[in-house]
Amino acid sequence: TSFSDAPFPAPLIHALKLAGYKEPSPIQAHSWPIAVSGQDLIAVAETGSGKTLCYLLPALAHIMAREKSDGRNAPRCLVLAPTRELVLQIQEVAVKYSSTVGVRAVAIYGGAPRGLQIQEVQDDPGLLISTPGRLLDFLCLHDSMKEEGGQAVLTLAAVRVLVLDEADRMLDMGFEPDIRKVVDVLPPKRQAMFFTATWPQEVEKVAAGLLTEPVEVHI
Ligand code: AMP
Repeated sequence: TSFSDAPFPAPLIHALKLAGYKEPSPIQAHSWPIAVSGQDLIAVAETGSGKTLCYLLPALAHIMAREKSDGRNAPRCLVLAPTRELVLQIQEVAVKYSSTVGVRAVAIYGGAPRGLQIQEVQDDPGLLISTPGRLLDFLCLHDSMKEEGGQAVLTLAAVRVLVLDEADRMLDMGFEPDIRKVVDVLPPKRQAMFFTATWPQEVEKVAAGLLTEPVEVHI
């Protein structure tokens, strides 16, 4: 297997080669065909296995293929991750590829001022990477906010691809109710990709509720 066979548009393949990797990692080689086919994916693999590119490249290929008539000012792909550190790390990788194909990868996360992040999400965020809490905040979906009658600064109506990265860790951290609230406002016609380092029954159960006929890859 080589990157030349990878199922992505030429600029993405070119950027991959520039990164200096020799070949796709096992999880990439297995995940990419499933991810670009539009099927739901469960990938059980340790961190460090190259999982970030498993979903980022298919997600970017998807955004590149968007119809011109689609509104540009709302995210097409949403990546949820447990911590600010991971969100920023994913964005750093994403920007290397997205910038070569004219897609903006925007990160939002708690523990930082809202103002700049609000500007960012309102400026064509094709790919949005977020922690669950800040996303609910921007969507005005926290229970307390509903009573206050706040206004959302973002819509997820254009999201076609949902990624849960380090899903097991998000569940450990108690984010399941938040994830459900987000999923509830996503369009039903979407692809979901679920990445986890561990595969206990509790995680399996949540995955089953969020995904439709997923293909599983265990590395
Ligand atoms: P991840 O599991 O996505 O956090 O990636 C772990 C590390 O593997 C990162 O430093 C990536 O840059 C690197 N990496 C990703 N894909 C490959 C590949 N195909 N070959 C070698 N290293 C890779």
